[in-house]
Amino acid sequence: MTQVRSYKAQKVIDRMGKKLSRQIVGSLVACVHCGNCTDSCHYVLANPGDPTYAPAFKADKIRTLFKRHYDWTGQVLPWWVHARSLYTDEDLEDLKDTVFGKCTNCRRCTINCPMGVDLATFNRMARGLLVSVGVMPEGVAVVSKDQWEIGNQMGVLKEDYIDTLQWLTDEMRLENPDSPGIPIDRVDADVVYSINPREVKYDPRTISDAAMIFNEAGENWTMPSEGWDMTNFGLFSGDDDLGGSVARRLYEKVEELRGRKLVISECGHGYRSTRCEGPNWAKKDVNFTMESSVLTMLEYIKSGKIKVDKSRNTELVTFHDSCNNARSCGLTEEPRELLKLVCENFQEMYPNRAENYCCTGGGGAMSMSEYTPRRLKSAKIKADQLKATGAKIVVTSCHNCVDGLTDLIKHYKLDMKVTQLVNLVANALVIEPKAVPTIPAEAIPVAEPAAILAGYRILVADDEPDFVTFVSAVLEDNGAAVIQAFDGNDAIAKAKAERPDLMTLDITMPGKSGIEVFEYLRADADLRGIPVCIITGKPELRELIYERSVPPPEGYVDKPISEESILRNVRKILELAQTKKK
Ligand code: SF4
Ligand code: SF4
Repeated sequence: MTQVRSYKAQKVIDRMGKKLSRQIVGSLVACVHCGNCTDSCHYVLANPGDPTYAPAFKADKIRTLFKRHYDWTGQVLPWWVHARSLYTDEDLEDLKDTVFGKCTNCRRCTINCPMGVDLATFNRMARGLLVSVGVMPEGVAVVSKDQWEIGNQMGVLKEDYIDTLQWLTDEMRLENPDSPGIPIDRVDADVVYSINPREVKYDPRTISDAAMIFNEAGENWTMPSEGWDMTNFGLFSGDDDLGGSVARRLYEKVEELRGRKLVISECGHGYRSTRCEGPNWAKKDVNFTMESSVLTMLEYIKSGKIKVDKSRNTELVTFHDSCNNARSCGLTEEPRELLKLVCENFQEMYPNRAENYCCTGGGGAMSMSEYTPRRLKSAKIKADQLKATGAKIVVTSCHNCVDGLTDLIKHYKLDMKVTQLVNLVANALVIEPKAVPTIPAEAIPVAEPAAILAGYRILVADDEPDFVTFVSAVLEDNGAAVIQAFDGNDAIAKAKAERPDLMTLDITMPGKSGIEVFEYLRADADLRGIPVCIITGKPELRELIYERSVPPPEGYVDKPISEESILRNVRKILELAQTKKK
């Protein structure tokens, strides 16, 4: 009897075919099941006797699907090569449990595989396939939504970000009235500094420490008012569209400011996403250099731009290599060189560098609370590693690792705290009296906001006149030409007559509802290419749109909606539409 396949399972299978790069296929076919990688995984070490944590077992969940549908052996002799398919939504949930809940994509098994199998790469692909049909841990959905809609992973609003930078400037000037503080949107800066939103929300001292270092070095630097988040949840969720949009936003802001170098604060996945993967995801040539702030600080010390006194950091420290920095980007020696310049006592942790174990919070694991017990159990390996150093401080160049390590230190009751290189450099910094007063940030020209929607025609369909006026004003202020419709029939007529580049659509409207309008657009060969952003005050009706058998809308936002959110979403949709046309 033929087994019926669910709509989502079929989508996952179809989309897999589009994601099979040569690198992924190479890894999917190369495994000889020798088991060499088994002991390299922290999950295996913490769960002896449970085969479901073995890298090859986890990989087989994806490999068997590939064999069944995209490899001739599995199509001709499925039983021979153990090819299996996915049929039900329960099958998808089972796959989710493995690819999100049993692997941090740390790539330690990769470097221990004689055949060069890179499980993390196709595990990420599998995550992306599941995300594309809405199967993912709740935390992944929330963080992705914040990064799509608000522009950063933690949903920090622009006014809160600017307020924080301004507050830090005020604090710096309380200590030193001549401090330049934090220059925002300075044009023609030599350094544009991008950060992790965690710094704004939970750890602003890392921002003021970095500012102190830039100012002491006499750097011509700035922080952007927008597009400042260098993290990228697309790396964790496997969503290349999100990855491209986030990276492009940052690159375009640096270009708008005519910055010469983008410096990325200490964050493993942010560094990898922004410097290594981002240009490919964004399909963009980047015409400025990019570097980790670790290299920037090291260069300042070695060139004499700043002076440090290592006797200010006397406690025994060890160093934890972030998986993304060390294994994926080769950033292993510079942090140690810097550490030894600013600390008196350093104790290496073993194994280290590319062989180091994951902090267990990687791969987005900190956002997936349903797997916390598993994560903390597997963290025993890291806890033992930390304990053996005898250090009181573990230093890491990654905000994600700061959270992962802090959590496991608490769980395993270790007498230790976590810090980053920027904090140690700032603590060791020798402030020299300045002969020439520096220019305060307010005296420096800032960039005019660009007409970012110039050339686009956007149809706003909503039955609330005040809302239409508000949205139209925001779009027009940013250069778009706006067409307005106040009921469903009017919306269809204007879409036909004007062929807009994008349409915002309310769900409840007189005449035809937004759902009927959406269905009409998708059924019409001439209109189905118009990207649609649903903006609704009725989130309970959302499923009525998403559960249809037509492609889902390109965007979705709940009311009330801010100016920033409108612009973020509209830009995102237009960017994706452009990418698809290329
Ligand atoms: S992934 Fe590599 S090391 Fe692991 S079982 Fe397969 S071939 Fe062996
Ligand atoms: S990538 Fe890391 S967590 Fe995933 S299976 Fe390999 S070693 Fe384990």
